[in-house]
Amino acid sequence: QPNVLTQKGSLPEFQPSEIRNKFLERYKTEPLLVRSPGRINFIGEHTDYNEGFVMPAAIDRDILVAIGASADSRSTLYSVKHDETLEFDVQHPEKVTFPAWANYLLGVVRQFVDKGYDVKPIHAIIDGNVPTGAGLSSSAALECGFAFALDHLHGFGIPKLDLIHIAQWSEHNYVGVKCGIMDQFSSMMGAAGKAFVLDCRSLTYEYFPLNLKDYAIVLCDTMVKHSLANSAYNTRRAECEKGVSILKAHYPTIQSLRDVTLEMIEAHREEFSPKEYDRCTYVVAENQRVLLAADDLAKGNLASFGQRMYETHDGLSRLYEVSCLELDFLVDEAKKFGGVIGARMMGGGFGGCTINLVQKSRVNEFIETLSSAYRKNIHRDMHAYVVALKDGTSVIPAIAKPSLL
Ligand code: ADP
Ligand code: MG
Repeated sequence: QPNVLTQKGSLPEFQPSEIRNKFLERYKTEPLLVRSPGRINFIGEHTDYNEGFVMPAAIDRDILVAIGASADSRSTLYSVKHDETLEFDVQHPEKVTFPAWANYLLGVVRQFVDKGYDVKPIHAIIDGNVPTGAGLSSSAALECGFAFALDHLHGFGIPKLDLIHIAQWSEHNYVGVKCGIMDQFSSMMGAAGKAFVLDCRSLTYEYFPLNLKDYAIVLCDTMVKHSLANSAYNTRRAECEKGVSILKAHYPTIQSLRDVTLEMIEAHREEFSPKEYDRCTYVVAENQRVLLAADDLAKGNLASFGQRMYETHDGLSRLYEVSCLELDFLVDEAKKFGGVIGARMMGGGFGGCTINLVQKSRVNEFIETLSSAYRKNIHRDMHAYVVALKDGTSVIPAIAKPSLL
């Protein structure tokens, strides 16, 4: 049970030796071990697929992949969490209806094969402690970890940026989620103690040390995921594209909402439906907010930074309409609490986590207060994760063999 808390906001320690031992037990050979982290996003929500800016960071929760060559032509994928195995043919990694988690990996294999890499039969075991469906992108961590492991095992030397695109392709085409590039990019490229601003058009990025002074990053998990999420995501994308096509008639150089200003929208407001107007103004304002927020951090102005997080939430809730009762409740409670300088829903919406910057000395009190308010009003248990910023996808150095083996 990866979501069970041992103390406030922490998860049980995760031991790479466990997945290694499982691999040794099943396949009698030493595996290659890879970790790939979940991610948070400080600001810049629903901007990635509009070719805009985001400010993500990789966190100290990982998907782990143990991988090795198969001794015969059969390949297997095993998920510890689901206790399910899939046998497949690496040369023909077709989509499956069951188990669903395998498609994230099969799509990656498909890309390797289609790109002409000579993929050999493999065994892989998946485990991890990235909470799933919480907006921390366990899916991207899974794709990236596996793509990196597959590449490393074969020694293909595929650049990380290409692996990021392979991972995203898998999510688009084998899972059916038309995600932007932020999640895969963050899992793969994260850096310890650092956040980065990513330009989702050029894929240029800039790391900066994140100095939150007396504040900790606390994620509050609503533990809900409303079924609206996928359909709403697709309609939002369509509404943004509609806005672009309206403005393109007047400003031919416009490629995406990234190129649009609020003045342009105002000048042609009558051509937008009220919803299209709200969606597009949110995205344009949010893009600006990311750059202003980066400026705040450079100046050490955390109060202003936090204020922008609240503004983002407000936009996501009222204009973009991807929040929900549970997320709004937790952000309102955070605002009331006093020791929080910024809070907002994080990720696609309709559930998942809020991200909060909380005074370090008051973290336990914060979690207790919000948990009990959540139970009382929403009648559910809230989970909380205190997170630190860690490096992106990497090989875990070989674990010394215990002398008894
Ligand atoms: P998110 O990316 O926000 O965590 P998604 O719904 O996009 O949520 O992805 C969650 C899915 O990723 C799970 O339903 C499962 O299929 C897969 N997944 C995540 N973690 C694991 C894991 N440890 N083992 C196997 N599959 C996993
Ligand atoms: Mg996901």
